[in-house]
Amino acid sequence: MGIHYKTKEEIELIRHSSLLVGKTLAEVAKLIKPGVSSLELDRVAEEFIRDNGGEPTFLGYNGFPGSLCISVNECVVHGIPNKKPLENGDIISVDCGVYKNGFNGDSAYTFQVGEVDREVQQLLRVTQECLDKAIEACREGNRIGDIGFACQKHAESYGYGVVRELVGHGLGAELHEKPEVPNYGKAGRGLKLREGLVLAIEPMINLGTKEIDQLSDGWSIVTQDRKPSAHFEHDVAIVNGKPEVLSTFEYIEEALKNK
Ligand code: MG
Ligand code: MG
Repeated sequence: MGIHYKTKEEIELIRHSSLLVGKTLAEVAKLIKPGVSSLELDRVAEEFIRDNGGEPTFLGYNGFPGSLCISVNECVVHGIPNKKPLENGDIISVDCGVYKNGFNGDSAYTFQVGEVDREVQQLLRVTQECLDKAIEACREGNRIGDIGFACQKHAESYGYGVVRELVGHGLGAELHEKPEVPNYGKAGRGLKLREGLVLAIEPMINLGTKEIDQLSDGWSIVTQDRKPSAHFEHDVAIVNGKPEVLSTFEYIEEALKNK
């Protein structure tokens, strides 16, 4: 199967689903505090998605049991929502997928629970900067390798580890479409980017080693040194040769400001 370049109409439908993801993450953001469990957050998200006419893409995807992937501290991605209460000082990556009108949105944000160590706060800030730099590289004429190169260069300038095994992806009618979008790479290498390409860009950046393990639950990916990891994800379309971000953190930031 090849790459599906999207029409303007299809991009608008992906934007609609992506915005619903952003609104869902904002609902979750309102509730995040010490003592709340990731399972409670998952329930709220599923209800909000369905109330807004969407379906949680992740639920049942390859058998995944939650509507959100909730990954705490050393968990990089694919954490399964559970009953364990969040603790002061935790960070949690909340990754959400919505399917509506035949198209998917897919976005993730890493939240702070209460007071977080300064070095971990920096990891969050830099990972978001990695995402911004990766998005900036999504231009017609550039190549896939330019995206990963921009992300890797910034992360490694802080001594952080860039996860290799998990990558961003094309996005559309399917959650994971071609091409793969690594968060590391060589400038000028790989597929040439062109109009209508829609990508989910999602740096996974570790405070320590880039190496990871998979837990025996069959899903959770954790850092090998068990140091924290951060994860931010946006959906980006190439429109008029330039990156257009279809998802948004605005609802999340608004919710965090009003807490
Ligand atoms: Mg995601
Ligand atoms: Mg994704």
